[in-house]
Amino acid sequence: MTAEVLVMGAGPAALCIASALVERGVKVAGVAPSAPEAPWQNTFGIWGPEVDALGLAHLLGHRWSHTSSYFAAGLGSEPVAHGIDYGLFDKAALQRHWLTPCQDAGVAWTRGAVVAIEHHERGSVVTTDQGDRLEARLVLDCTGHHSPFLKRPDEGPVAGQAAYGIVGRFSNPPVEPGQFVLMDYRCDHLSEAERRCGPPTFLYAMDFGGGRFFVEETSLALAPEVPYDVLKARLLKRLAHRGIEVLAVEEEEFCLFPMNMPLPDLDQQLLAFGGGATLVHPASGYMIGALLRRSPALAQAIADGLADANLPSPSLARAAWQALWPLELQRKHALYRFGLEKLMRYPEGQLRQFFATFFSLPKLQWYGFLTNTLTLPDLVGAMLRLFAVSPWSVRLGLMQQQGREFPLMLRLFKP
Ligand SMILES: Cc1cc2nc3c(=O)[nH]c(=O)nc-3n(C[C@H](O)[C@H](O)[C@H](O)COP(=O)(O)OP(=O)(O)OC[C@H]3O[C@@H](n4cnc5c(N)ncnc54)[C@H](O)[C@@H]3O)c2cc1C
Repeated sequence: MTAEVLVMGAGPAALCIASALVERGVKVAGVAPSAPEAPWQNTFGIWGPEVDALGLAHLLGHRWSHTSSYFAAGLGSEPVAHGIDYGLFDKAALQRHWLTPCQDAGVAWTRGAVVAIEHHERGSVVTTDQGDRLEARLVLDCTGHHSPFLKRPDEGPVAGQAAYGIVGRFSNPPVEPGQFVLMDYRCDHLSEAERRCGPPTFLYAMDFGGGRFFVEETSLALAPEVPYDVLKARLLKRLAHRGIEVLAVEEEEFCLFPMNMPLPDLDQQLLAFGGGATLVHPASGYMIGALLRRSPALAQAIADGLADANLPSPSLARAAWQALWPLELQRKHALYRFGLEKLMRYPEGQLRQFFATFFSLPKLQWYGFLTNTLTLPDLVGAMLRLFAVSPWSVRLGLMQQQGREFPLMLRLFKP
């Protein structure tokens, strides 16, 4: 055996679960094509109270209190203030936070991409493209959203969140000083035809200070996903309409990941964490908060299972899957997928009305919805309230049967 647990991957999910396991005394090894110290490309955002509750506020590189969104069409419209802080992780600090306990515990990452996995009663063996064979009682797939090794039901097209962003300098500030904009749905830079027939996209933007800004044109979720060239053209058109020119591009972000993937088969011997385990929030696209909140229970279930030397690996994996996806979380996931299915079908005008209504809910409800921190009854309560206070155009959209809503709703009762 290479270790008790072999973690495939070296992204946020891999490092997060590896550190939670070594803290519980589990012997861990890793395997990934690149070193776990290699810098991550994505920018990771999170709501302030999420990191505060976890005691991890020091891992933020930026934090904004002036947080808002725009849901009216016109350029001159007033922002909706969110009244809740938002932050961006200092990626290097987050990586160090997880990597240091692994290094202290002597976790070694073999360099290579896994190409095959065989399972047996006492464990699993993975083979890499370098010809290495590594064996562990439990293998954890943290290779991201598109793992070819995980079994999951095929439930039709999966919607992707797509975004194109620029960190750079601009001829005029794209947002107010010190402002963070979650969703700017103003769309008077688009023609009538573009609004009616094109995909609804919004601007996610923030002031980094020192004359630097991050602006990202985003499509919340669509299948097929919105192409990058469309997003880039939309972003430049939006900026030009406001008389803003891009003076210098420091970084570009190309973002694409699945939003409404079905849960993996919870009976399989290959365990997973992160994108492959469907931990992305199907309504918001966020995942880092979920990693931080859900890794302790998963790591504890694995440590408990490993403590029983006679427990066969398939049983160990099954117990761990249940700790990661208890019934209540499965039910909430079904509700979120149901909600996203509705959202994806709204034309641009109704979508703006929907979000204006959503963010008029009490803070605890919309924040709890977006961070997946409400109990199931509270989540149902928030959704019912949203329906009750929505204008009729939004309500009708919520009631119409246009796609997979019915089977998704049934999952609430039978996940
Ligand atoms: C551009 C972008 C921005 C995002 N922004 C946010 C955000 O602001 N907030 C948020 O919460 N979420 C965000 N997300 C969603 C989510 O948090 C990220 O996608 C996150 O990187 C997923 O983490 P992961 O560890 O599951 O997978 P990944 O980050 O994709 O890591 C996968 C790891 O597995 C390795 N690997 C791949 N194949 C193999 C193989 N065959 N064998 C061994 N190793 C392999 C890779 O090299 C990598 O190390 C964003 C996603 C993207 C794409």
